[in-house]
Amino acid sequence: KISDVRPVIRQLDDSAVNRIAAGEVVERPASAVKELVENALDAGATRIEITVADGGKTLIRIKDDGCGIAPEDLPLALSRHATSKIDGSDLLNIHTFGFRGEALPSLAAVGRLSLTSRAPGQEGAEIRVSGGQAEPVRPAALNRGTVAELRDLFYATPARLKFLRTDRAEMQAVTDIIKRLAMAEPFVGFTLIDAGSDRTVFRADPESGDLFDALHARLSTILGKEFAENALRIDATREDLHMTGYAALPTYSRGAAVAQFLFVNGRPVKDKLLTGALRAAYFDFLSRDRHPAAALFIDCDPVLVDVNVHPAKSEVRFRDPAIARGLIVSGLRHALAEAGHRASTTVSG
Ligand code: ADP
Ligand code: MG
Repeated sequence: KISDVRPVIRQLDDSAVNRIAAGEVVERPASAVKELVENALDAGATRIEITVADGGKTLIRIKDDGCGIAPEDLPLALSRHATSKIDGSDLLNIHTFGFRGEALPSLAAVGRLSLTSRAPGQEGAEIRVSGGQAEPVRPAALNRGTVAELRDLFYATPARLKFLRTDRAEMQAVTDIIKRLAMAEPFVGFTLIDAGSDRTVFRADPESGDLFDALHARLSTILGKEFAENALRIDATREDLHMTGYAALPTYSRGAAVAQFLFVNGRPVKDKLLTGALRAAYFDFLSRDRHPAAALFIDCDPVLVDVNVHPAKSEVRFRDPAIARGLIVSGLRHALAEAGHRASTTVSG
């Protein structure tokens, strides 16, 4: 049945486009925190301070000591599909967390965003967005790096606001994402402060030493000494994929899959293929109701894995999934068998 009313095709304006995209990128305070902390990491920060009020609903402030943004670039940082990280010619070869140039315009569309920044050799400057419109850049005092502040998330979209959980639950989600990023970046210091109580919720100072030492120390801070003491060092290769990290002995297993942290090229991922492989690796070592604990980092040439699957970027697609699965299963089984062998020779010897 064809309607009498002839449909009209219209180009949506920028603010509508940004609000639609924001729905994909920013689900809750923790996703805003993730985007802003990833920007700080991409900027080469060595210390990142995250301040959050009311579970992130009223305030998220990320302060970093990274490369900063020049005053004349501040408006560009807020515009859609503007990024300093790729030039668009090689979408298969991405080495940074960000690349879409979507986070800041999306955040500006769903909250009150301001950026204060100072690049080396430049004056400090600030830009604010209100009602979807960027105000003119103003001079601002700052020693170095960037402060991104997002207030009143979802104030303009009450429907979204209603779906948020309690402040406590949102704060937990924020803490979880910070911990994941802190695992992936042991040389970077992280501090998470709850502005309401002025309490430091999480703190990890920058680690030193080689990557394994730094990671071990960082995992001890985040997952606890007991994990660190029971963790096997993992260092395995299969074709062009490498896996490093720590996996706990079966005796340190959990009743739920709460201590499984997987990363691909430094990004925290939640991927069924990879968690399935982790479970399979421990199959002979654990009863069905127990779950392994591990923090594993798979690294490969970015052309071998597509991180472009979803804007929130927690899913990945390997060019050859069987190699990824094989790497995890055989790498972990080997480490577990060796540990078992060591344990039994110690006992008998
Ligand atoms: P993307 O990270 O995909 O490039 P964003 O919208 O998150 O897109 O950021 C846009 C641009 O703003 C970045 O490419 C970067 O040049 C700049 N930028 C954002 N946050 C920071 C920061 N904390 N330090 C330095 N530059 C930043
Ligand atoms: Mg970004």
